Amino acid sequence: MTLSRRKVIAGGAAVLAGSSIPWPATAKAAPSLHQRLICLDTHLDTPSSLARPGWDMMQHHDRDQDSTQVDYPRMVEGGLDGGFFAIYTPQGPLTPEGMAAARDAALLRAVQIRELVAAHPRQFELALVAEDAARIAVVGKRIVYQSIENAYPLGDDIGLLNLFHKLGVRMLGFIHFKNNQFGDSATDTPQWNGLSPKGRELAALGNDLGMVLDASHASDAVFDQLMEISRSPIILSHSGCRAVFDHPRNIDDARIKKLAAAGGTIQINSYNTYLITVPPNPERDKARAALGQKTRSLAGLTPAQQAAGMQEVARERREIETRYPEPRATFEMYMRHVTHALDLVGPDHVGVGCDWDGGGGVTGMEDVTAIPKITERLVKLGYTESQLAGFWGGNALRVLKAAHEARKISS
Ligand SMILES: [Zn+2]
Repeated sequence: MTLSRRKVIAGGAAVLAGSSIPWPATAKAAPSLHQRLICLDTHLDTPSSLARPGWDMMQHHDRDQDSTQVDYPRMVEGGLDGGFFAIYTPQGPLTPEGMAAARDAALLRAVQIRELVAAHPRQFELALVAEDAARIAVVGKRIVYQSIENAYPLGDDIGLLNLFHKLGVRMLGFIHFKNNQFGDSATDTPQWNGLSPKGRELAALGNDLGMVLDASHASDAVFDQLMEISRSPIILSHSGCRAVFDHPRNIDDARIKKLAAAGGTIQINSYNTYLITVPPNPERDKARAALGQKTRSLAGLTPAQQAAGMQEVARERREIETRYPEPRATFEMYMRHVTHALDLVGPDHVGVGCDWDGGGGVTGMEDVTAIPKITERLVKLGYTESQLAGFWGGNALRVLKAAHEARKISS
């Protein structure tokens, strides 16, 4: 047995029993506390990398070269055991054509996640229920839960959620940057005053299937209504604290307390513009939009041309960053949100959802290899191993378990 496998076994015991097992006296060196824990991130946008031509999850990449923040070698290095891999769909037009295209893209993304796991069965395993996490971590594999970010692809047919559930999806985020057919976005003008009638139906079906309802990106009114109607605790899979930085994507203290009192958890986001004021720069926006257009235009090319095109895009992105520098939040700013939430509701209701590969990352914590710094800081602040086991995964798994136990449809 390798040392790394021993590390994970101890972590598994910590989560299961609430305390660590004694380290064998014969071991040469005890792993760090961080490596012993089962560490989950509840919002990984990494599946978007899986569609990149020539991009290989098993290779160690460099954020400065290709903008990615998570791959298998970096997960191992950073001690990230897994998390919720998001099936993210940008908000498009609420037309039959728009919805059909979104449905196809989301199903394809779910397939890509399953293909990743199928292609690397010794490194990854799909997880469906809370108990799977420790079982998978014990054998040294990465834990792949799946979530939906933006329910827009369900179109007019919420019954499609049954299919996503069968594909393994266990967390349901309703909305993204814009309002959709299910409710209001935190970053749009209210249209439904919370959930739409269809959104309420979707919440009920999510409950019935045993999915965790995720209120990140949703308006405050949607959060309140989900809190009211959900049969099991809800989650904020990647959100911050409004008391620390006033942004609609962050949430106020009263709601965080309500969430915690109901057994839920807030998973702190490291997305730059939710942590720091970024003054508008139309020139930068224009340059980024042009680059986005260039990226989309690669779709029809051969794999080799696409791979070359992506390198060019990465180079131009670096040029834009140099030409129009954007203020960047620091690790200290991120930790202010973490410690504020911890002070407010305690370690049983806070965790991590960094938005890796979806815009997350701060100066001093640029990719997933840097996450041991969070543990190091919390240890300095006096948090115990058992509390950190909850923070790094146990809390999210408790919410998943509660959702599963409240289900009405057995599969
Ligand atoms: Zn997001």
